[in-house]
Amino acid sequence: MPIYEYVCTDCDNKFELIRPMSQFSEAASCPNCQKPAERILSRFACFTTDDSGMPMSLAGNSCDSCGASDCSSCNM
Ligand SMILES: [Zn+2]
Repeated sequence: MPIYEYVCTDCDNKFELIRPMSQFSEAASCPNCQKPAERILSRFACFTTDDSGMPMSLAGNSCDSCGASDCSSCNM
């Protein structure tokens, strides 16, 4: 099953859930504070991964955080 990444909007905790694709859009709760968490698009859902394993922006070919053409220079 795919792994989905989430970030808590309350405490910024990042966590991963393995769940069926049929449940991927369902809300997830932060394991720390039980608040709703937002799903992060992880590498398998992104377009131009370079196999670095880093999640990449969907906004284009550049990183949202640093503007580089890959995300090796930031912790995005
Ligand atoms: Zn939280």
